[in-house]
Amino acid sequence: MKIICIGRNYVAHAKELGNEVPTEPVIFLKPSTAVLPLPGPFVIPSFSNDLHYECEIVLRIAKKVCCIDLETATTSYDAMTVGIDFTARDVQQRLKDKGLPWEKAKAFDQSAVVGEWRPADQYKNKKDIHFCLYKNKELVQQGHTAAMINSFEAIISHVSNYFTLEPGDLIFTGTPAGVGPVEPGDQLEGFLEDDSLFDILIN
Ligand code: ZN
Repeated sequence: MKIICIGRNYVAHAKELGNEVPTEPVIFLKPSTAVLPLPGPFVIPSFSNDLHYECEIVLRIAKKVCCIDLETATTSYDAMTVGIDFTARDVQQRLKDKGLPWEKAKAFDQSAVVGEWRPADQYKNKKDIHFCLYKNKELVQQGHTAAMINSFEAIISHVSNYFTLEPGDLIFTGTPAGVGPVEPGDQLEGFLEDDSLFDILIN
């Protein structure tokens, strides 16, 4: 199983980090060891002093696909949830400044929170899905799929040109604006529409 993440898929988030809005999807990977066993807790790694949450919709691939068109992409995933792409922002900034790959900042152990799954066909209009993240019961991130630069099927089709997708692979579809730091004692709860799909503590 592999995890493919899309960066800068919401204009407002790209701008809040001072990044250009990309002309094609920005892709990075996390290994299967990045998945946080639920219910957690998430332990802030010792190598970061600026650990950020990024709440994202996650898709689960249902069949083996390679180099597929948009139409095939719409039927290539069977489940959706919300998750967190934990990011060591200080480490990422150091690596970005040197033009180096991001993996140390993004792909470390337990950096991927994957919520409880819902069937993808439960959401009829994929361009009208709301999701959000609460930190300590306060709303910190709100996303709407209409604001994505690349739609789910555009992401999957594009990714499949580079990586064969297999059943169980996960795709993190990018975070909206509002990313921020966590500290020990914080609680994070993610919602897809009205469903609470994860609730974790930070240590
Ligand atoms: Zn992300």
